[in-house]
Amino acid sequence: MENSTITTGVRQNRSTKIRFQYEDDDLELDQDETIEEAATGSSNLEEDSAMCEPDDSILGSDKTSADYYFDSYSHFGIHEEMLKDVVRTKTYQNVIYKNSFLFKDKVVLDVGAGTGILSLFCAKAGAKHVYAVECSQMADMAQEIVKVNGFSSVITVLKGKIEEIELPVGQVDIIISEWMGYFLLYENMLNTVLYARDKWLVSNGLVLPDKASLYLTAIEDAEYKEDKIEFWNNVYGFDMSCIRKQSMMEPLVDTVDQNQIVTNSQLLKTMNISKMTAGDASFTAPFKLVAERDDYIHALVAYFDVSFTNCHKLTGFSTGPKSRATHWKQTVLYLEEVLTICQGENIVGSMTVAQNRKNPRDVDITLKYSLSGRRCLVSRTQSYKM
Ligand code: SAH
Repeated sequence: MENSTITTGVRQNRSTKIRFQYEDDDLELDQDETIEEAATGSSNLEEDSAMCEPDDSILGSDKTSADYYFDSYSHFGIHEEMLKDVVRTKTYQNVIYKNSFLFKDKVVLDVGAGTGILSLFCAKAGAKHVYAVECSQMADMAQEIVKVNGFSSVITVLKGKIEEIELPVGQVDIIISEWMGYFLLYENMLNTVLYARDKWLVSNGLVLPDKASLYLTAIEDAEYKEDKIEFWNNVYGFDMSCIRKQSMMEPLVDTVDQNQIVTNSQLLKTMNISKMTAGDASFTAPFKLVAERDDYIHALVAYFDVSFTNCHKLTGFSTGPKSRATHWKQTVLYLEEVLTICQGENIVGSMTVAQNRKNPRDVDITLKYSLSGRRCLVSRTQSYKM
């Protein structure tokens, strides 16, 4: 993802941080350089002008970039990224192939089928029939892919929104979906899965995956906070700290090195997808993070795991900093001031997560935290919007 050039997808979040590697030190921004010094640097004109043009090569012939902006899942780039996330895709494949007894002669609904990959796994594992529902233009590709691979008699692709389509059957035995967004809940596709569950799933039916948990930990991140947040205090000698305020409110999606972790990890919330209601995705959860060493803390970091508990062997994956990286990375919430913490001291507080009222696909996060340590006394509330 760090090398990705396509930025139209929702999962290729606007807030994703790209850590630039400057090969040429001359390109580094020197905050204190004089007008004369600044003027001598190369302006790199050719590249700059190209940046403003939409890249037609990534668009289909009858599509404009605006279409893709509003319908990001229609472009193959986002599906390529998801399919190449082997932690994600292999886990689903293993769950399905190694538990084919669950699928044998069952009717399956694939909520948000994309390229149809999960439907193909299910068909191969022996499902009686699979309904692959996809609302983006990718549904046409899924249809073609199903045909080319010889599964037309088992998989029916339906193009449309789950909330609007009519299924040719009244009930399904299994609902499978890969609905998770950044910070688990960004994009809010979980509601779509719950809608499908309540409308079509038989009473003893399965939802895969059936558990998702959100966790919180704390990290040292001086270098990157300086680069992404404090940067705005002095830009070529000008005070742009009004943008700093905005940058503080926007959680950053990036991979965190496990050596940056200073505290334990706290489970915030476990969602039981088979039983929960849409309202359960909004919650307030308390936390207590205990320092495992003396260090500074610049940010709290959220991540999630999902599991398939109905399998022969409990299966799942984590998106945490100690696990192999996924395209979800982690979600970094910077703290207004740097905390100095000593081993054994703890940050206590709560996190409130709620759907944004204006745009239900966005998530509002409120963080309350306090530390009363030997070196640091802090009590604060901060708000973020994803
Ligand atoms: N199942 C695929 C794609 C997962 S991404 C895979 O695992 O690779 C989620 C997909 O759900 C996207 O393609 C998106 O367009 C689709 N989607 C999101 N909301 C939807 C809805 N309400 N109805 C139908 N499809 C939806």
